[in-house]
Amino acid sequence: MGKRSTTPGRTIEASAPERLYGVRRIDLASAQLASSELARDINRDIVLEFIRFRQPVSRVDLSRLSGLQPSTISAIVEELIEEGWVREGAVVRGARGRPSTMLSVNDDLVTLALDVRPDQAIVAVVDLSGRFLSHEAVVTVADPVTSMTKIIERMRRLRLRHSDKTFEGIGVSVPGRVDRMTQRLLLAPNLKWHNFDIKAALEKGLDLQVEIDNDANACLLSELWYGRLEGVKDAVLVAVSEGLGTAILAGGQLHSGFNGLAGEFGHISIDPTGPMCGCGQRGCWEMFASSRAALQAYRKLAPKSPVRSIEELLRLAEEGDPAGGKAVTAQATALGRGLRLVTAALSPELILITGEITSCWSRFGPIVQKEMENVMLAGPPPRLATAGDGYLARLSGGAAILLQRHSRYHRSTHASRAAKPVRVKKARRRRKS
Ligand SMILES: [Zn+2]
Repeated sequence: MGKRSTTPGRTIEASAPERLYGVRRIDLASAQLASSELARDINRDIVLEFIRFRQPVSRVDLSRLSGLQPSTISAIVEELIEEGWVREGAVVRGARGRPSTMLSVNDDLVTLALDVRPDQAIVAVVDLSGRFLSHEAVVTVADPVTSMTKIIERMRRLRLRHSDKTFEGIGVSVPGRVDRMTQRLLLAPNLKWHNFDIKAALEKGLDLQVEIDNDANACLLSELWYGRLEGVKDAVLVAVSEGLGTAILAGGQLHSGFNGLAGEFGHISIDPTGPMCGCGQRGCWEMFASSRAALQAYRKLAPKSPVRSIEELLRLAEEGDPAGGKAVTAQATALGRGLRLVTAALSPELILITGEITSCWSRFGPIVQKEMENVMLAGPPPRLATAGDGYLARLSGGAAILLQRHSRYHRSTHASRAAKPVRVKKARRRRKS
C-alpha cells in the first residue's frame, strides 16, 4: 500500500496503490480499442485546453507543454483553426530569433446561455473563456409556452446585439433532472413545466443546437471548465436555492448514474413526519436545508413581519434580527447534517456550496462545517468551500454544457448514452449569426 498523508489540508497520495493494479477488469460489451482516432481526439482536447489556459501560446510552447511532437501539434492546431475554435494572432520572435505565431481561443465564438428558475429566467451571451458579454433577466410564469416565447424573443435580441459574433449553440441549466437521451425534463418539482420540451422550443425558435443539464451539474461544470478544480478528482457541489441540487465529480468525471438521477440527495427523506415536498414524499432534506425552508421557518417564527425573498431574510439575519438568525441557523444546521450523508456516500475531497446562503457564509458557513464534521467515520473531513456566484456559475455552466458535448473524447466515450451532438461545421467561421 502507498503512503497516505492524513495531515489536514495536504493532498492525499494515492498513486502508489493504483500502480500496483496491473490489470483492470475490461467490460467487453462496451470496450473501445485505443484506436489512432481515439488517441487523436484525446490529444486534440488536451491541446485545446492548453490553448485556453495558456493563451496566447505558440505551437513550440504547446509541443513543450504537452510533450507531443511538433508535427502532431501543427496538425491538431490546423484542425482547431479550421473548426473555428482557435485563431492565430501576433507573430513573436523567440529566444533564438525564430518567429512564432501566437494562438488564442476564438473570442468571436460565443454561446447563448439560459438559466431557467421557477420565477425567472436569465439569458446571457458567454464566450469560450467564460466571459459574459451580456446577461439579463426575463420574468417567467407557470405557463411554459408563454415563458418560452418571451425567452426566445430576448435571445433573438441578444443575437442581434452581438451580430458580429458566431453563436455556437444554446446551453441551458434547469432546476431538475434531464433525460440524457431525449434531453427532456425527468424531474423538476420546483418548476411546473411538466412535459414541456424546452430543447425543441429553443431549436425551433432560434435554429441553434441546444444542450440541457441540471443546474447543479452546470455549476460544477463551470468550476471544471473555467475555474478552480485543478487537480481535484472527487468533489460534490450542492446548489442551495428553492430546492437542493447536487452534482458529483467522481474520478474527474461528472457522474450521472444509470438513469441520470445520481445525486438526488435533496429528495432523500430525513423525517417521514416532516413537511410535504414537491416530489410527493414527506420530510426531504431540501424541505429543511433549502432557501425555501429558511423562508418557511421564518414565517412560522415571525408571522407578523413578512419577508418577500431569501435575500431579504439573509439581510435581516445579518442585521441581528433574532427570528431571521434562528431561521437561517436552522437551515445551515440541516445543510451540514445532510452533508454527512453526502460524505458517507461519496467521500469527496471537496464540497462546494452555491446559492444565496453563501452571501452570509462567514456567519453560517461555520455552522454547516461543524454539523458536517460532527460524526466523521474516519479520516479527515472533506474541504468545505463556496463556489462563487451561483447565479453566474449556472450561466457559464450552461455554456460549459455545450462545450463539454463538443469535447471529442467526451463524445467518443459517451456516444451511446448522450444525445448525439452536432458536428462543428467547417464553414462556421464564415457563417455569422
Ligand atoms: Zn422531495
